[in-house]
Amino acid sequence: CGIVGYAGNVTTACGKPLEVCMQGLKRLEYRGYDSAGVALTAPGMDHVEVRKKAGRLSNLADDIKRHPMPDATVAIGHTRWATNGVPSDVNAHPHVSRDGKVAIIHNGIIENASRLRLDLQAEGYSFVSATDTEVAAKLLGKIVDTVIAEKGHPDLFEAVRRLARMLEGAFTILATDCRQPDIVVGARHDSPLVVGLGDGENFLGSDVAAFVAYTRHAMEIDQDRCVCVSATKVTVTDFEGNVVENPATYDVDWD
Ligand code: GLU
Repeated sequence: CGIVGYAGNVTTACGKPLEVCMQGLKRLEYRGYDSAGVALTAPGMDHVEVRKKAGRLSNLADDIKRHPMPDATVAIGHTRWATNGVPSDVNAHPHVSRDGKVAIIHNGIIENASRLRLDLQAEGYSFVSATDTEVAAKLLGKIVDTVIAEKGHPDLFEAVRRLARMLEGAFTILATDCRQPDIVVGARHDSPLVVGLGDGENFLGSDVAAFVAYTRHAMEIDQDRCVCVSATKVTVTDFEGNVVENPATYDVDWD
């Protein structure tokens, strides 16, 4: 339902990525939601750190107070409006790969999730939630491993493109990998995604409300595009990997 992402300076992990996500989710509350969650990572971490809770955003905030999260360089946050699986803590986003190194959040519905789930189950994958999104998370983890085997290094941008080519239905996805704690990667098909441009930090959102407290400089990602966002760079490609020109920027002029 609501999506927010943040990429900051990779040498200075701090509390800001989490703060940006919580602020952004608060601003996206107007869309309605039944659960909320965040994932973050930083150099040196061997997994993405996830907190998620059904119910109000304050449930998530209380959970984080009880189980504080580490400083981070990148983070993603989600408010869920359940379509596949009841509202619950386990069904809330982010969902993670089998090894816990990759996390994704998702707006929309993946129409071929049942088929993909069966394929993964046949390969020995198990699922903790009833969501279409967890299928995408497990599949993305598998693709990330394939890409590492091929290239000798992780390439989340390439992995998300391969994932996007396999998904049917409507989706905006954001993904993060603890082995690349300097980037957040997004993809969109029939669901919106906007980038917010900061000074030495960049933002992502399902709409500008997600980051308008931090920057008013925005860029709407076109249909069927993947985007890789670091603190200083925004790169857009089509699902095949061809780099396309960045969309025009504009300034948000509402409060
Ligand atoms: N289909 C996903 C789910 O049910 C995402 C729903 C949403 O857009 O929030 O978890």
